[in-house]
Amino acid sequence: MFEIITEAIVLDKEDLGESDSRVFLYTKDLGKVAAKATSLRKITSKLAAHLEPFNWVTARLVSRSDFADSRNFQLAEALLIDNAGDLKSNPANLRQAIEAVNLIRKSIPESAPDENLWQVLQNIRSQKTIYSIQEILKILGLDLEFAGCELCRKPGPEYFYPRGNFFTCRTCRLASKETKENFIRLCALIQK
Ligand SMILES: [Zn+2]
Repeated sequence: MFEIITEAIVLDKEDLGESDSRVFLYTKDLGKVAAKATSLRKITSKLAAHLEPFNWVTARLVSRSDFADSRNFQLAEALLIDNAGDLKSNPANLRQAIEAVNLIRKSIPESAPDENLWQVLQNIRSQKTIYSIQEILKILGLDLEFAGCELCRKPGPEYFYPRGNFFTCRTCRLASKETKENFIRLCALIQK
């Protein structure tokens, strides 16, 4: 049995079965964690309101395993610190923040805490900094400026494949057997 209380930023939430949810958190102490939240979608769930994306919470995570294997985490409790209300009422910034956080969530491995990334996520949710996709890629250690397609080496790649952390061109993406939704389109996102 492993239990930890840590500050966390809610990255995303998805349905799991009839009434449960899987919550993706970026925790201060464990980095990215996917935790199961039981009965979250019941109307009476007090937890649910605290677990909207961009919320900053104190989370209690429990695992049956003695190892910090994030896949087995259960979210036992979450107390709201701040709900990023200003960001949520600014549609333009919110759209950009969703794209940035989506890219971060899909690119980073689980259980690898990073103080710098924690600060970046805090800057996004507080609107202290508005990051472009290019800037987020740079933070993740990827420079689009000199990048080419990983598969055919063509310069000016149009897509990013977060699972493998590499860029591809349109042709190679189309030819790939991978689900097309798993690629992030770059040209539509990059704003100068
Ligand atoms: Zn290519």
